[in-house]
Amino acid sequence: MSTSTQAWVAKAPKQPMVLEAVDLGPLGAEDVEVAVEHCGVCHSDVSVLNNEWGISQYPAVLGHEVTGRITTVGPNAKRLQVGQRVGVGWYSGSDMHCHQCMSGSHHLCPQAQSTIIGHRGGFATHVRAHWAWAIPLPEKLNVADAGPLLCGGITVFAPLAMYAKPTDRVGVIGIGGLGHMAVKFAAAYGCDVTAFTSSESKFDEAKGFGANHVVSSKDPAAIRKLGGSFDLLISTVNAKLDWDAMIGALAPNGRLHNVGVLPEPIPVSAFSLIAQQRSISGSPTGSPVAIATMLDFAARHNVAPQTEHFPMSNINEAFARLESGKARYRIVLDADF
Ligand SMILES: [Zn+2]
Ligand SMILES: [Zn+2]
Repeated sequence: MSTSTQAWVAKAPKQPMVLEAVDLGPLGAEDVEVAVEHCGVCHSDVSVLNNEWGISQYPAVLGHEVTGRITTVGPNAKRLQVGQRVGVGWYSGSDMHCHQCMSGSHHLCPQAQSTIIGHRGGFATHVRAHWAWAIPLPEKLNVADAGPLLCGGITVFAPLAMYAKPTDRVGVIGIGGLGHMAVKFAAAYGCDVTAFTSSESKFDEAKGFGANHVVSSKDPAAIRKLGGSFDLLISTVNAKLDWDAMIGALAPNGRLHNVGVLPEPIPVSAFSLIAQQRSISGSPTGSPVAIATMLDFAARHNVAPQTEHFPMSNINEAFARLESGKARYRIVLDADF
């Protein structure tokens, strides 16, 4: 069943990946196999490569922002045909029968299968996924740049879809791989968008992505001036901020939503939440339907990540570039086996 698959394999933490033949074994009855055309590099790939979360499994094949074409369809797979273009993101499967899956929240399934932990990811000739998690790509979407939408894109789109109205004032904290897509989505949705960045060199670019206002996240006085004004703040950062000022910037009923993995707890006084009925929340990726909805929205509004492309054979240079913090703003590897 398995075609000869080659993959960039991480054998141990913090080691360069090496090209090897891998055996994906028999294809599951409900699974599909996808020939990888492009695969984005996400910060989570770096975290798993370096075993930052202590849950990596080696040898690992990373890559979870895949776009490609279906090459094989398992006998019990639904909906998909050989040759069809699909995307595979952070999850490549879930049990399909638990309360969460049956409620349409497959991404909250306790058995959800991460694409790059205990499963081989997309820095390879082929990747596999349960049919439900291989999301058909809209025709209009640029397949070369769509990869980052499958993980980073849905991660920032989901809170907008869940919590924002087009009339809302939305702030995006951190203008990087996630944040620049959040600004584009929120602007396309019609929100009044404020970008918070610590880097003055990104002020103009943030406006180019559709931000109506740009504020330095290192300037507590400027943030305090915005007190009580945001319906939704989406934080994409993994660094400490002036959380008092940020929570104070929320309007009554406002929400601070986290999609960045913060190393330290957010200190918050209950009173600052209670008096203005504010919330703090977080979310991971999204369900297959949420991903499909996001792709449709992105195609309709021409929302695409700003990318740098590397041939997949330069994967180790690409990871170094991402870790350097210099990538503007997402890196995509083009399969060149
Ligand atoms: Zn990711
Ligand atoms: Zn489930």
